[in-house]
Amino acid sequence: MNIGILALQGAFAAHQRVLTDLGTSVTLVRGVEDLVGLDGIVLPGGESTTMSMLLDSSGIHGHLRELLGKGFPVFGTCAGLILLAEQIVDGRADQQQLGGLSINARRNGYGRQIDSFEASINICDAEHACSMNGVFIRAPRIEKVTGDVHVLGTVNGDIVLVRQGNVLGATFHPELGNDRRVHEMFLKIVSRHNDDLEQVQEVRS
Ligand code: GLN
Repeated sequence: MNIGILALQGAFAAHQRVLTDLGTSVTLVRGVEDLVGLDGIVLPGGESTTMSMLLDSSGIHGHLRELLGKGFPVFGTCAGLILLAEQIVDGRADQQQLGGLSINARRNGYGRQIDSFEASINICDAEHACSMNGVFIRAPRIEKVTGDVHVLGTVNGDIVLVRQGNVLGATFHPELGNDRRVHEMFLKIVSRHNDDLEQVQEVRS
């Protein structure tokens, strides 16, 4: 399995450590050519407005949008989730969305850097009925989910972890700390997607 991590800006190194620990091969994505041969990609935290500009100037934006349309597995954390949100509140006027998650996300929805916090998250899917610690740094706030978005994690009623098809999004930073469960969730999405692709190929041949 080869997972890309968007490395134009932001907290990509921490994701690299987690995925490497989990035995996954990792490619840092800085140009369109780095997208070749990936099984999935992580969009890290950072500054979504800057990342959005760099996605555009590097040409990655268009390719990623196309991949998302084909069901390519993508995992966005914090700023990464903002990039995937179909609608953002308090974004920059020229901030371009990749789409992929039918959600409304308010940038800096819990306040400024000083309002960053840690909280216990209820992880609520069939396999993970438990809680985990989450680090929220100038986190976006999900104000609305529509369509077939599954809510997988909440804090005091706020939605903080969602999945729609092969797209996973967290408003917090699961790459910080020692809990690997959200990354494991993503790797499971990737391996199921790979199995599906293999089956399609078998049927065709
Ligand atoms: N507030 C940042 C943004 O709007 C996201 C912060 C983060 O990724 N930790 O992009």
